[in-house]
Amino acid sequence: MVRKKSVAAKVKTQKKAYQRRIAQLNKSCSWRVLVVVIQAAKKFLRLRKCKSCFKNSDCHCTISKEFLININYKSLSNKTNDNISFDIIQNKQEFDDVKNILRTVVSKVCRLDYQRKRQSEIRKRKRSVDDCSPNESVLRKRLKQNNWFNKKYNEDLSFRQIRMQQKAYKFRDKYKDNNVFRQKQKTRLKKLAIEKYTNNDTFREHEKTRNRKSAIAKYNNNEEFREKQKTRIRKSTIDKYNNNKEFREKEKTRITKSTIERYSNNENFREKEKIRMKRQMFNRYHMNMNFRQQQKLRSNENVLFKYRNDVAYQKNIKEYARKQGFTKYVSDNSKRLKKIQYAINFYRNNYTPNIQKQRQLYNQRRRIIKKYNIVQSYSCVLKHQNLYIKNLKIFRDVIQEGPDYTCRVCGLALFRNQVIPYIEEKYITKNMSFEMKERIQCYLNNSSSIEETWICRSCSDKIKKKEMPSRAIVNKLEVSDVPSELKKLNDLEKHLIALRLPFMKIVNL
Ligand SMILES: [Zn+2]
Ligand SMILES: [Zn+2]
Repeated sequence: MVRKKSVAAKVKTQKKAYQRRIAQLNKSCSWRVLVVVIQAAKKFLRLRKCKSCFKNSDCHCTISKEFLININYKSLSNKTNDNISFDIIQNKQEFDDVKNILRTVVSKVCRLDYQRKRQSEIRKRKRSVDDCSPNESVLRKRLKQNNWFNKKYNEDLSFRQIRMQQKAYKFRDKYKDNNVFRQKQKTRLKKLAIEKYTNNDTFREHEKTRNRKSAIAKYNNNEEFREKQKTRIRKSTIDKYNNNKEFREKEKTRITKSTIERYSNNENFREKEKIRMKRQMFNRYHMNMNFRQQQKLRSNENVLFKYRNDVAYQKNIKEYARKQGFTKYVSDNSKRLKKIQYAINFYRNNYTPNIQKQRQLYNQRRRIIKKYNIVQSYSCVLKHQNLYIKNLKIFRDVIQEGPDYTCRVCGLALFRNQVIPYIEEKYITKNMSFEMKERIQCYLNNSSSIEETWICRSCSDKIKKKEMPSRAIVNKLEVSDVPSELKKLNDLEKHLIALRLPFMKIVNL
């Protein structure tokens, strides 16, 4: 679609075109005048040649008249055809003057033109010579010039500065104006820099540090640049992470390591992480059904495992459950009733004779186990079962007989291993004095008329030494008869008036 121009715009463009035309005219006015003058001169010259035929034919005059009007030749413009030719012929002197002036002007213009042409030709030749192989003289000349220039350049400081400035200006102008030159310069500089970077070690290091420094400074100061850099780096890292497997593995290990380190060292971070994890888990637990089920299963397993292995934990749990149950039982009336009902029902449904027997057995077993657990753990009993049984057998053998053996001297009821059979010949020998025999005889309790009599070891030792045993009945240890008043007392009364209250403690072996 072409937009239609408005009237004002049209006027504007027309005005502009007019102004342009005027300017062109002004610029080339002098040249135009010159060209017109030359044309006029030529016409005049031709007119003079055929002045003899002026009167016969008007062909030239008509032309001249038009021409004269065109160049505003006032002196001649008013006159008629015939008058003109007549006047020209009449004023020959004047005509010659004009001719002379014109000739000089033409010659001058021609000369200038010729000069210009020649100069351009010379320049062209020179350029062609320069482009082709230069001959020896030129070379020598150039060498001389170079030498001179170098000398001056090295010695004269101001000259050098001026030259350098000039060069710089020139270069800058060219760089600004010439597009091709600029591109060339850029590629050249780049190439140079790359070459230097690859070959020169120190330069490389220097460049690296410089670049890093400048980049850091820019990064710190320029916010836009920072954002750009960040996005760029993130993008490139993500790309690399997605495409490069090795890099991904490395990154993962690095991140986990650093996170663990930070977690163990930085307390703030740890707290934050914990809170974050908790929240995340919570959210996931609420949103994800599968995850919830899994978590429940896992936690149940965990709790069971802990319950089985950790005794303290088990105790705690039991205590907690009992407390909970108790509080519920106490506070909630309906709950209590329910529980009682449930128990009664259970008892009624399950109290068959078979069950009763089972329960009895169970209770018995439990009691036994409890008893053993007090002395030593059940596992220990199993472990030392043989030893235990052997000892028990021995003990049973020992206690098969009660303390049925009474000592002849002290009258104590003792076990079999504590007494020895009484043989008179051991204590009363034939070479003993009569008094001694009498004394020993009185130690013995003659009341017992059983054939086989026993004596305890301590009494027998003492008698062998011919001393009185300390606990012999004869040693003023006879039990006197109970008075008739005390014989009537019952157990409680006896207990109340007793001087000594004997206690007995039975220890489970
Ligand atoms: Zn005795
Ligand atoms: Zn007491």
